[in-house]
Amino acid sequence: MNSVIAPPPVPTIAVRNTMDVYPVHRIYCVGRNYAEHAREMGHDPDREPPFFFQKNPDSLVPNGGEFPYPDKTHDVHHEIEMVVALGAGGKDIPVAEALHRVYGYAVGLDMTRRDLQGQMKAAGRPWEIGKAFDSAAPCAEIVPASEIGHPTQGAVWLKVNGELRQQGDLNQMIWTVPETIAYLSGLFTLTAGDLIYTGTPAGVAAVQRGDILHGGIDGIGELQVNVV
Ligand code: MN
Repeated sequence: MNSVIAPPPVPTIAVRNTMDVYPVHRIYCVGRNYAEHAREMGHDPDREPPFFFQKNPDSLVPNGGEFPYPDKTHDVHHEIEMVVALGAGGKDIPVAEALHRVYGYAVGLDMTRRDLQGQMKAAGRPWEIGKAFDSAAPCAEIVPASEIGHPTQGAVWLKVNGELRQQGDLNQMIWTVPETIAYLSGLFTLTAGDLIYTGTPAGVAAVQRGDILHGGIDGIGELQVNVV
């Protein structure tokens, strides 16, 4: 049997300090997972169940790459986030089992067309056009958990042109990584190759063409992306 078109390539992310790559299956993102960010977006940060949206795997941008300022928007925001990379999946994964399914971690940016997201929220429509556009998912090299363990605290920060914009700590997450994996696996069958962007701390703001976005998470690594 022949493919009638060339099979689309499988997106990959480099594994730090190796020649290896991590192939990406899906990208899930958690909304409002830090209380201060929930407040800045006008929401009560009480511990309501986590909610999710997805980005497209072919929208990844590597560390040192370029983020083309997207069309149809005048308000593109940065959201610095810890990214979890699954090495195994499953359905209804127990919280106590969840970290065994994690291959590693990375620093990512959940780039957002905030104006379009806001219009979709107001109309009760899906967020795709605000969240799942081309190049919307910068992600630095994957760092295996076998090297760094499973970080539960450490500074999360983002500078724009050298000026600190976002600052938080992994220990401020409303839903922990094991809780998030367990909950998400009740909604979707997770597999090796799935990424989970775990939410952003406060300080989200607009970017402009020419900006240099430089972020990091203590114990994991750093990510730099230029807005062009
Ligand atoms: Mn986000």
